[in-house]
Amino acid sequence: RESSHPLSHIYQAIYWHYREDNVTSVQCFQFKECPMPTIEDGQILVKTLCLSVDPYMRNRLNQQTGTDYMSPLKLDSPIDGGGVGVIVESKSRHFCKGEILESFHWPWQEYAKYAVEGFNSLIVNKVESELVKNHVSLILGVLGIPGLTALLGISEMGHVVEGANQTIVVSGAAGACGSLAGQIARLKGCTNVVGICGTADKCNFLKEELNFDNAINYKEDDVDAKLEEFCPNGIDVYFDNVGGNISNSVIRKMNKDSHIILCGQISMYNTSQPYPPPLDEETEQIREAQNITRERFLVLNYYDLFPKTLAELKELYQEGKLKYQETVSEGLESAPEAFVSMMAGGNIGKQIVHVADP
Ligand code: NDP
Repeated sequence: RESSHPLSHIYQAIYWHYREDNVTSVQCFQFKECPMPTIEDGQILVKTLCLSVDPYMRNRLNQQTGTDYMSPLKLDSPIDGGGVGVIVESKSRHFCKGEILESFHWPWQEYAKYAVEGFNSLIVNKVESELVKNHVSLILGVLGIPGLTALLGISEMGHVVEGANQTIVVSGAAGACGSLAGQIARLKGCTNVVGICGTADKCNFLKEELNFDNAINYKEDDVDAKLEEFCPNGIDVYFDNVGGNISNSVIRKMNKDSHIILCGQISMYNTSQPYPPPLDEETEQIREAQNITRERFLVLNYYDLFPKTLAELKELYQEGKLKYQETVSEGLESAPEAFVSMMAGGNIGKQIVHVADP
């Protein structure tokens, strides 16, 4: 049965094309023009508004993702990830035209149909329009996975204690999770917040916009010397987004009984290391001697806490206590480049792909 909607009959989609080992390039993506889907009972047609490009997607480009909660992308199949869109046509009594939706499995397409009823239906969540007003990408950033990761990482694994004068170091500090994690650590009681990131502009952003006490440019500074200077009382909490040599330097400066929030290890995502990668022998010995905890943190394990945590994030953001920055690329066609750029450090704050307006 044909559905009738006043839309063009072709839409753009991005497919996962081929893989050069351990290299993420725009050549790994392929554009296709597809016929506009027609919907049947129990389905909806959505228009994509914004997409998220995330480091975990790099692991989905490997034949094995190294984790049990995500599957590898199949060659020549459409890419999916975090996304937000609006319903343009509905044949479900549970969904109405004009409603804003988000999903963790949003396809990289201008339009898509979703089955929203029955056994094979996709998990899509309605977004409170009051919550995001004209800024729907908030749901992919401060009011989405990055915000949840930062707040739950700090509160569930950081052992931050108000009044304890703790020092936190955040790596990947100018990115989506890191920029929020440093601010949240301060709000929860850390008195010395130090960020590590890859450019001088990012360092300025952390200090001037987000009120970090200090920032280290790991591409130019002597990280060990700067940590010594900026963390005179050692390090109590480490929010680790990157792993590798940066983390080795931080761990060497960590205090006895301190805590690593093992959020991500982006410096290793282009290698075939299992996740989480073990520390090198010397650093592992230091970790053991200092009794530093290093448990894997996975935000999806805290699903039950999402509503409460999102309410807290919303309040902090709306009261102006939590600043949120985006780097936005325009158009579906920019998504591959946005992904490659984010992996190489081209973003400040959350990298968003703006596809269309509601
Ligand atoms: P970001 O916005 O931080 O973007 C990635 C950043 O990583 C880049 O901007 C770049 O910044 C930095 N980077 C890239 N390569 C390297 C490298 N070799 N060494 C050091 N830094 C590097 O991404 P997200 O905030 O979305 O993700 C941050 C981390 O959090 C990732 O490891 C991700 O996998 C993880 N994560 C974990 C979750 C969980 O549940 N545990 C949930 C969500 C994310 P720079 O210029 O500073 O190099």
